[in-house]
Amino acid sequence: MNSPYNGFMKFTRLIGTKDILPGESYQWIALQNRLREASAHFGYREIITPMIEMTHLFIHSVGDVTDIVSKEMYHFRDKGDREITLKPEGTSSVVRAYLENHLTDWTKPVKLYYLDRYFRYEKPQKGRYREFHQYGAECFGSESPAVDTEMIQLAFHLLQCMGMKELVLQLNSIGCPACRPRYREILVSFLTAHELALCPECRNRTDKNPLRVLDCKKETCQKVLAEAPAIVEYLCSDCAVHFLTLQKYLQALSLPFQCNPRLVRGFDYYNRTVFEISSTSLGSQSALLGGGRYDYLVEMLGGPSTPAVGFAMGLERAMMIIQETNSILFHEPSTKIWIANFGGETLHESLTVADSLRRVDVNTEVDLEGKGIKKSLEIALKKEIPYLLIIGEDEIKSQQYTLKDLQLKSQQTMGLSDIIHTVKARYASL
Ligand code: AMP
Repeated sequence: MNSPYNGFMKFTRLIGTKDILPGESYQWIALQNRLREASAHFGYREIITPMIEMTHLFIHSVGDVTDIVSKEMYHFRDKGDREITLKPEGTSSVVRAYLENHLTDWTKPVKLYYLDRYFRYEKPQKGRYREFHQYGAECFGSESPAVDTEMIQLAFHLLQCMGMKELVLQLNSIGCPACRPRYREILVSFLTAHELALCPECRNRTDKNPLRVLDCKKETCQKVLAEAPAIVEYLCSDCAVHFLTLQKYLQALSLPFQCNPRLVRGFDYYNRTVFEISSTSLGSQSALLGGGRYDYLVEMLGGPSTPAVGFAMGLERAMMIIQETNSILFHEPSTKIWIANFGGETLHESLTVADSLRRVDVNTEVDLEGKGIKKSLEIALKKEIPYLLIIGEDEIKSQQYTLKDLQLKSQQTMGLSDIIHTVKARYASL
């Protein structure tokens, strides 16, 4: 491959990607670990699937007329001439793995969650990237509306664990193969009658994917759609009972929700329950997570009939809210001792002492250039390290070291075990 690099070119990160630097990276990992703990409260266990999958998996599951598959996938042909795609979403891979690894034999319901990176070639905007992180949960093996309820409860629990407050749950039922075709016909005739008032994209979608027209955000379409027939009025009795029972359970749990007859979500595999939770503090692009039931996907991908429900949450937006509202901040472990030395034997001794300190969990850094006390003091103050330990030739002989407390501006000479005791007593949480 020829490179256009000419020695002057500046390398930059790709549009829609992000570098997560120290400080922020700790917040990310700590947040992910909090989500892991919160998932365990509900009996969910983590599944990790590959970053790449066969392109056809997504065409088959997400649907080829969806934006994700038709416009946004990063796909390529590998050296073995296989069609490969960087995962644009999590559910398809989880279902593939569920079948491929015979999780069908596990005791039901099978409760899984994932934390991963995803890729979509879409227009980058506030909180929206081409490479992004999602947490997702999936539950296989039960049709009960109690599973939908618990899934929504889990979603609230996770958001509340992240310190989020102004949460709005929107809910809809989009029926099943028994009742949706009739509604689809009624919707198509409504949309055709109002064709001229719709945007070109919606006109185009009317035949291919009419339900998606319902969540067009353009004002002109919104006006037309305000009068559109609502799917909940065309549900078969099984779907209607399922939806009403879910609402009853949510009310019993005091989980507030709004029924939104225009909520459909951008994937073809959903049926019955669809939901989104947003935060009013993020403005219009506010969906933090979205999900729903997908009772036919496992079968569509070659497995036995298996009802399922799940949701996915974008972590970039969640992190944005956390940073804007300071709702939770995780405390990053920092260096407690900086060892000053003068090179040669004293550097050697410093490395040995640092090793002993680290073995008892005292975070320690060494002046690896042996530049003496003044330079070390400068560095320790700049990095806000609370203790400076000085190791010179006399200290090596006596095995007694000078420990300077840079916050209290005091110093003491002591052996290694007393140093450990002193530092640990101050930082009981070390
Ligand atoms: P979806 O997978 O489209 O149902 O989206 C689930 C959640 O993932 C959304 O509510 C967003 O918060 C988030 N999300 C989707 N696409 C992106 C993206 N390109 N960048 C950041 N977050 C995203």
